[in-house]
Amino acid sequence: TKNTDPDAPTRATDNDAAIARLSAVRKGYLADPYIAALIPRAHLQQPRPPLINIGTYLRTRAIDLLLDDWFRLAGPRKVQIVSLGAGSDTRFWRLANGPHAAKLQRYIEIDFAENTSRKVMSIRKNRVLSAALGAEGDISVGGGGTTLRTPVYNLLPMDLRTPPAASLAPLMRAGQGDEPMLSPTLPTLLLFECVLAYMDPAASNALIQWFVDYFAAVPGGLLGGVVYEMFKLNDPFGRVMLNNLKSRSLSLPGAEPYPDLASLSRRFLDLGFTTAQAVTLREIRLRYIDSRELQRLSQLEMLDEVEELELVLDHYAISWGVRFPEGWAREGGAG
Ligand code: SAM
Repeated sequence: TKNTDPDAPTRATDNDAAIARLSAVRKGYLADPYIAALIPRAHLQQPRPPLINIGTYLRTRAIDLLLDDWFRLAGPRKVQIVSLGAGSDTRFWRLANGPHAAKLQRYIEIDFAENTSRKVMSIRKNRVLSAALGAEGDISVGGGGTTLRTPVYNLLPMDLRTPPAASLAPLMRAGQGDEPMLSPTLPTLLLFECVLAYMDPAASNALIQWFVDYFAAVPGGLLGGVVYEMFKLNDPFGRVMLNNLKSRSLSLPGAEPYPDLASLSRRFLDLGFTTAQAVTLREIRLRYIDSRELQRLSQLEMLDEVEELELVLDHYAISWGVRFPEGWAREGGAG
C-alpha cells in the first residue's frame, strides 16, 4: 500500500523532474518533443518558476555536452550508456534521433519497478516513442510489464540499493544469446542524474564499484560516470534546501557526504577512476554557456532574483570521472 511505502516519495521525485522538464520545454529553454508523452495529463501541468526552468536547462545542457565528449572520446567505437534512476528521462529518444544515433550500441535505463512499468506503458501507447525502438518484432515486454527490451534500448526494474552481486550483475550479464546486456569491451558511460542524493553513500559506492570492476576486468575497458546532484547541504542555504526535502518525507542519508566540489571528484578517484572533475551549475552558467545563448535565455521570462538564482545554482553540481584502461594513449584520445 502506497502510504506506508517509504520509497514512494523517492519514486515520486521523478514526477517533479519530468514536470520541470516539460515546463522548460514549453517556455522555450529546451527542445524535447518526447517529454509530454511521458507525463499523464501533460496539458494540465502548470509552468514551474524561472529558477527551476533555468536549473533544468543548465543540467540538461551540461550533460548533453559531456555526452558529446564521451562519443568523441570513444572515437570510432560504439558506446553504451546506462542511466541509473532514469525515471521519465527522454535522453535516449533525443540521442536516437540525433547525430550520435549510429554510434549508440546500447542504452540501459534502471529505476524502481513501479516507475519502469509506467514508462513501459507510456512508450507502448505513443507511436513516436515506440518508433525509436526499432521494428515491432524486436521489442519485448516482460516481467509483468516492468521490463522492456530491444536491441538498443532496455528498460529494467531494480532497487539500486540492493547489493550489486544479487541484482545488477545478473541483469547486466544476461542478454540475448551469448552477448551480455552490458558489453565490458565497449566504452560505457554511467548517468546518475538527480538520483544519488536519495541513496546511502555506501550503497551508491557499491553500485559504482561494481561497474568499475566489470570494466577493469577486461583489457581496454573504458568507463565514464556523470553525476548531477545537490551538495553543500551543511551551509545555511543548503540546510534550507535539505529541510525542504525532509518535509516531503524523502529518506535521505543522515550526514552530508559531499560538503564541497573536491569531495565530489574524490568519490570518483576513490572508486578507481583515473580522472575526475566537478563544477557547480552556477559555474556552468557563467563559463560554459555562450553569451548568445545566455542572451536568448534571458529573453524567455523575467528573472528578478539573480542573487537567489546564483545561490541555488551554487548548491548543485555536475561531477564526472573517467577510468582509462592501462596503457591508454592519452595524447591521441582524452580531451
Ligand atoms: N534521472 C531522471 C531525471 O533526471 O529526469 C529522474 C530523476 S528523479 C529526481 C530520481 C529517480 O531516481 C526516480 O525516478 C527514482 O525512482 C529513482 N531512484 C531513486 N532511488 C532509487 C533506487 N534505490 N532504485 C531505483 N531507482 C531509484
